Amino acid sequence: MMHQFKSSGLKLGIIAGGQLCKMLIQEASKWDIITYVLDPEDNCAAGNIASKCFKGHYQDFDAVYSFGKKVDLLTFELENINIDALKKLQSEGLKIIPDPLILELIQDKGLQKEFYVKHEIPTSPYVFYSNKDEILTAIIDKKLKFPFVQKLRKGGYDGRGVSLIKTEKDLDLLMEGETMVEDLVEIEKEIAVIVARNENGETRTYPPVEMVFDSKANLVDLLICPSAISEEQSKKALEYAIKLIAALDMKGILAVEFFINKKGEILVNESAPRTHNSGHHTIESVITSQFEQHIRAVLNLPLGSTQLKMPAVMINLLGEEGYFGPVYYEGIEECMAIEGVNIHLYGKKITRHFRKMGHVTVVSDTLVEAIKKAAIVRKTLKVISWDKL
Ligand code: ADP
Repeated sequence: MMHQFKSSGLKLGIIAGGQLCKMLIQEASKWDIITYVLDPEDNCAAGNIASKCFKGHYQDFDAVYSFGKKVDLLTFELENINIDALKKLQSEGLKIIPDPLILELIQDKGLQKEFYVKHEIPTSPYVFYSNKDEILTAIIDKKLKFPFVQKLRKGGYDGRGVSLIKTEKDLDLLMEGETMVEDLVEIEKEIAVIVARNENGETRTYPPVEMVFDSKANLVDLLICPSAISEEQSKKALEYAIKLIAALDMKGILAVEFFINKKGEILVNESAPRTHNSGHHTIESVITSQFEQHIRAVLNLPLGSTQLKMPAVMINLLGEEGYFGPVYYEGIEECMAIEGVNIHLYGKKITRHFRKMGHVTVVSDTLVEAIKKAAIVRKTLKVISWDKL
């Protein structure tokens, strides 16, 4: 494989062709790497820059298996993949990075939690329930007290599959199925740390970023780097991220999300064994972007510097409310005229409310200046459509 990297013709397979895959390919194309993508949609974000696109669903055994047979090395941009197909490919000699076993563990928020506890990485206390009735019974029996957070063990995404139950009034939000109930953390801040590791065990961490959430959409509204946390908190977060990736014996990029509670304690929330929304700013603000780093890690190449070049603020470009149809980016030219504003459009043809259509990273000499400019972009750049709902 290394031989192929130094020469020509290495076929890197990427499962799912969304924006993370697109940005991965943009980095892979700096080198002589052929990229094959598997995605269920005709017009996926990575579609027009992948060397080759194959239509098929990532949860479908046959689609994943036959795709894997076409490539020299396999990685992915999302967690929700058919594990049996990956395991079969691996047993037949295909290198899959990160390892399918890690994916299997992370697909289940319950197993993730158990792993944190086993490896003494602080996290909020939790209990598993097999259905909604069990939760209601636990409340009646006074074994479970308000407030709490219920999470689907599997299949949740971008806040879907998470219910915040603060009082009895919220009980109609309870979800059916296998869930995990955890103590509600009084969140002071949410931060994320990206860590990379290769087969040689070389490990690099990125500076912690602070995520500011839009409470309505439950999506990241603003992401700030460097984050305004104490030196000690930063040290701890990096330490936990390194401990976790080593305990998993993982290769590739791991994104670890943490809560900082009102007491200033750091608790791990969840992790993703892939490139992450909280690392988009690294394209412009860090010497080696998370996407290049992932390729380096996957190919067991030396990892690159994770030094921050400039303070950065990242905002997601979400489809505006009330629009559904062919996309139109209102105000894009005004924003481009602002120094330090870097616009990324994912190339999704159809916008709908809250759909992630792109992102903007603002870099500046000072964080204050970057935040100001990001606020202007937020007000000016709107993802809409001529076809109103
Ligand atoms: P997802 O996998 O969908 O991103 P998360 O576990 O990150 O789900 O939860 C989504 C959001 O819900 C978090 O960013 C946080 O704001 C809130 N949340 C999740 N768990 C807790 C908790 N234990 N206490 C308080 N808020 C929480």
